[in-house]
Amino acid sequence: MEKRYDLVIIGSGPAGLAAAIYAKRARLDTVVIEKEMMSGGQILNTTDVDNYPGLMGIGGFELGMKFREHADKLGAVFLEDTVSEIRLEDGGEPEKRWKLVMGEKEAYRTKTVIIASGATHRKLGIPGEEKFSGKGVSYCATCDGAFFRNKSVAVIGGGDVALEDAVYLSGLCGKVYLIHRRDELRGAKSLQELLFSKENIEVIWDTVAEEVEGEDKVSALRLKQVKTGQVWQLEVQGVFVAVGITPNSQAFEGLLETEQGYIRAGEDCAASVPGIFAAGDVRTKPLRQVVTAAADGAVAATNAERYVSRFTG
Ligand SMILES: Cc1cc2nc3c(=O)[nH]c(=O)nc-3n(C[C@H](O)[C@H](O)[C@H](O)COP(=O)(O)OP(=O)(O)OC[C@H]3O[C@@H](n4cnc5c(N)ncnc54)[C@H](O)[C@@H]3O)c2cc1C
Repeated sequence: MEKRYDLVIIGSGPAGLAAAIYAKRARLDTVVIEKEMMSGGQILNTTDVDNYPGLMGIGGFELGMKFREHADKLGAVFLEDTVSEIRLEDGGEPEKRWKLVMGEKEAYRTKTVIIASGATHRKLGIPGEEKFSGKGVSYCATCDGAFFRNKSVAVIGGGDVALEDAVYLSGLCGKVYLIHRRDELRGAKSLQELLFSKENIEVIWDTVAEEVEGEDKVSALRLKQVKTGQVWQLEVQGVFVAVGITPNSQAFEGLLETEQGYIRAGEDCAASVPGIFAAGDVRTKPLRQVVTAAADGAVAATNAERYVSRFTG
């Protein structure tokens, strides 16, 4: 007979793994579906995590493994599959509708779903970017800013996130260069005013980064002025790439309400369809970090348990 679950968790980053821990402790019949061979999500790609309470300086990979180990010890079941859609069974009260989570290998029938599919930081795709990732190239100013105290850094981008990053870093770093490929910024006017009020921020207009340079770690950026074609070198110890984040929500866009691609859900993690929850970086929220993703996983699993207790389908 076809297997039916209480809960399907999509994604095994910090949000999905925290949800699995809470769900197992609540004795929900749960499966975690992860598209990659390894659990841990984005954090696997960072060397040091300095802001997860109680584990200062832990490696990102090690932290991801610790989360997974914890879920394993409680007996969580993991399957490797990529989810492409969630379907609702026809008709009836919200508490009677089974959900069908469509994977490439299988369809999983379940009472409730937690989407913890996270987000992907866009890359520049220039030489040196990958080589120095975690050694001077960062995609997260909140995470890594403190490593560049009193140093010179460049932020690349011109939208809200780039402006926020530059303002945040100006409080830590000696000098912040904002590199933007156009002659005007896209970010909110209020943010622009704040940015221009900071004496240690310099905007370099009409310029793109061509290469990240250095020996063991970043020492400079090779830049190109797009109007004149002039190529030059800017000495910096850190490069913050802020050219956009894509939430991994494409599979759910027809079913759930989204805002700029993020699944609309508040502090209770409830998405716009009863019985479906969104946790971590994939949902609308002000701060995307390991600690907030893990907190979301706990809240979503607790609310999923309440939903399951009322389920009569
Ligand atoms: C380079 C870098 C450094 C960072 N440093 C820090 C730091 O120092 N401190 C900090 O607090 N935060 C840091 N962050 C942010 C932190 O990693 C994220 O906030 C956190 O990982 C979000 O967790 P999540 O579980 O919501 O999503 P993710 O970590 O993105 O995990 C989502 C998981 O879902 C899987 N998935 C996606 N789509 C599907 C699908 N369709 N089917 C099945 N599986 C799917 C993915 O493979 C992934 O494993 C950093 C991020 C980056 C990129």
